[in-house]
Amino acid sequence: MNYKYLFALGIFATSVSIILIILSIPLELPILLIIGIILLVVSVIFTISVPLIEMFSKDKVLDIEELKKQGLTVIKCSNCMRINVKEDIYCIYCGEKLDPDVQQL
Ligand SMILES: [Zn+2]
Repeated sequence: MNYKYLFALGIFATSVSIILIILSIPLELPILLIIGIILLVVSVIFTISVPLIEMFSKDKVLDIEELKKQGLTVIKCSNCMRINVKEDIYCIYCGEKLDPDVQQL
């Protein structure tokens, strides 16, 4: 999932909702104002939550580039296919014994 696109979408939705609110005044459409306010609240919450989710998920997933910089070998678990460090004996996610010969990245 690309968080940059989601964040841009949130910014876009926020902009649209602000335009709706501004337009509702000269057009004298209270329904437009209500929709605009609801959309504004939803999109602001969405836009704020995207970086928070991104931070949270980064904590859980190992950063391959960072590990390689540290001189560690990155391999995939043969059971759950998630990224592990070869120096670990068991998969940190599912506990399966890691086979150092397979799926080197
Ligand atoms: Zn695993």
